[in-house]
Amino acid sequence: MRPHGDVGTCGEVVCADRLNLLREEASACTRCALAKTRTTVVFGSGDPHADLFIVGEAPGRDEDREGTPFVGRSGQLLLRLVAENLGLERNDCYIANTVKCRPPDNRNPRPAELSACRPFLDDQIASVKPKVIVTLGNVATQALLSTKEGIRTLRTNVFDLAGIPVLPTLHPAAALRGGAKVVEELRSDLLRVKAYL
Ligand code: URA
Repeated sequence: MRPHGDVGTCGEVVCADRLNLLREEASACTRCALAKTRTTVVFGSGDPHADLFIVGEAPGRDEDREGTPFVGRSGQLLLRLVAENLGLERNDCYIANTVKCRPPDNRNPRPAELSACRPFLDDQIASVKPKVIVTLGNVATQALLSTKEGIRTLRTNVFDLAGIPVLPTLHPAAALRGGAKVVEELRSDLLRVKAYL
């Protein structure tokens, strides 16, 4: 975590205030059809000055109920690996999804939903100003980097988003499905993040 004093401002307002304003705006958002089926807007959570910004795909059932990203099984795996390999807890990072509302039956977010929600993610990143971004899985990585390339090709590479290094890795849900080998791939990708913190 960076000290608050020297980098705690983003223009006129402090980052935390800017994030709170964005959260308020998102909580009333009706920019896409997901607004009709969501229970809660899952805006994002964590340190407004975090060095590590994690981008997931979309809220699932647990997140839709609780309003916090990655509180279900895949989140537990993700946060255990982040703690073990980077020494960071949930509140040391900032975590957000490409879309802030749960797609029905956990289907992939549609292009129109991704683009409707993208300004929130861009504003969150601009506000937090992380040292490094980790994207989880195909949907988050392809959306953030505007590519159609698959995660298996993209992972182990480093990309640039407005001067911020982006390291794509596998989604923890894929690691839950894929077992020990995929968990180890996710772990080794996270270890590479350390150099950017
Ligand atoms: N999967 C995601 O991509 N995001 C969440 O918040 C939960 C599960």
